[in-house]
Amino acid sequence: MAVRCCPHPSTPEGNENVPSKTPQSRSRKPELLAPAGSLEKCRVAFLYGADAVYAGGKEYSLRAFAGNLSLEELAEASRLARKLGKKLYVTVNSFARQSDLGPLPKYLRYLEEIAVDAIIVSDPGILLLCRASAPNTPVHLSTQANTTNALSIELWKQHGIRRVNLARELSLEEISQIRRETDVELEIFIHGAMCVSYSGRCLLSAFLNDRSANRGLCTQPCRWSYRLVEQKRPGQYFPIFEDEHGSYIFNSKDLCLLKEIPLLMDLGIESLKIEGRMKGLLYLAGVTRAYRQVIDAYWEDPQGFQLPSRCIEDLEHVSHRPYSKGLLYPEDHALHQETDTSKPYDQSHTLAGIVREHDSQDLLGNCHPGLSEYTVAVEVRNRLFPGMTLEFLCPDGRTEKHVLTAFYDSFGNLLQVAQPNTRIFFQVPFSTFPLQVIRMTRDAPENLSSRR
Ligand code: SF4
Repeated sequence: MAVRCCPHPSTPEGNENVPSKTPQSRSRKPELLAPAGSLEKCRVAFLYGADAVYAGGKEYSLRAFAGNLSLEELAEASRLARKLGKKLYVTVNSFARQSDLGPLPKYLRYLEEIAVDAIIVSDPGILLLCRASAPNTPVHLSTQANTTNALSIELWKQHGIRRVNLARELSLEEISQIRRETDVELEIFIHGAMCVSYSGRCLLSAFLNDRSANRGLCTQPCRWSYRLVEQKRPGQYFPIFEDEHGSYIFNSKDLCLLKEIPLLMDLGIESLKIEGRMKGLLYLAGVTRAYRQVIDAYWEDPQGFQLPSRCIEDLEHVSHRPYSKGLLYPEDHALHQETDTSKPYDQSHTLAGIVREHDSQDLLGNCHPGLSEYTVAVEVRNRLFPGMTLEFLCPDGRTEKHVLTAFYDSFGNLLQVAQPNTRIFFQVPFSTFPLQVIRMTRDAPENLSSRR
């Protein structure tokens, strides 16, 4: 019982030896860099078009909640990247305390042994340790280092930094000036959550929750809804008014630079980075394939380029706060701030399930002759009922829709409902492939109302 594969876009070859279309700014195709909070996310990111992924080990990485990779998983991710001609960067970007330094050299030597493509650091002390313990592994500078000018980049270069992720606070004009003044590889964030503080230099979470953002433990209290309480009136919450919507001084919208990709490619930015190691598989697949399509389309035909509407839809269909262009255009700063928290996240769609590998042995007895060609095995992530419309995301940007009718468990029993974390089997009239991400509308009113 074979599982067929969707046509897959040609594997990106990174940014070397790509023919130049205009003399300078288009001499290299930028790398699309995606988050990988687990080994599975690493595979999914590569599948949906990432040229490179960044992942953390269990220690020394910001995003301590991100389900970082074990030593074995890092080695596996490195092997996978090499096999696919892609890249793995490992974050060691916390700000080290004295007690962190002792065990670090052994860990850094391990990263070099497994041949990761770069180590991402923020702390100058960790950079020195990288040079000593992993001298053959390139080092990239994290956005946490807040690099805002070409002279700072020169200093980092003198200390062996190969690439700098610029501070998210820079405008397009500043990025452009820096590009003209340095030959160091530049990386910028193009999508994801924004800090209301200066790129994570924030004590809010440490103060309120005893969890420090600079140790990878931020609980994002900047996004909470605040009220005023008078000491002798416990339980009475008074709103604070900043404007007619209320007071949301800490909130920031999400970054989305989909429409600016051509501009950024023309500038000659080497790496375009997606934020979100803690985000789920639907976010990872949808966002990665959207940016993949836009980068490829503009690279192939800059003159005739038009933003594909399905890429915009993909970004709208992942859970997100209202989008903005961050701080790229200083005159638009007000747009960066979120003012409506009545609906803090837009969530039109959710993850229905993931396609898994299977063979005929999965269906004990193989009692349903119809379950053969084009049968798909799906690991369910949200409750599914007959009549629901499932959307299978293909790496080339297409979305195959399928109305769920009959579906079975692994014993061949016909089911009326599929529960999360179970595996079901059904037929679809198109090809699928392992790790394919399936989404569905969040409310699915036509399907659910009579079944709850
Ligand atoms: S509390 Fe908010 S602003 Fe501060 S580090 Fe966390 S996410 Fe960033």
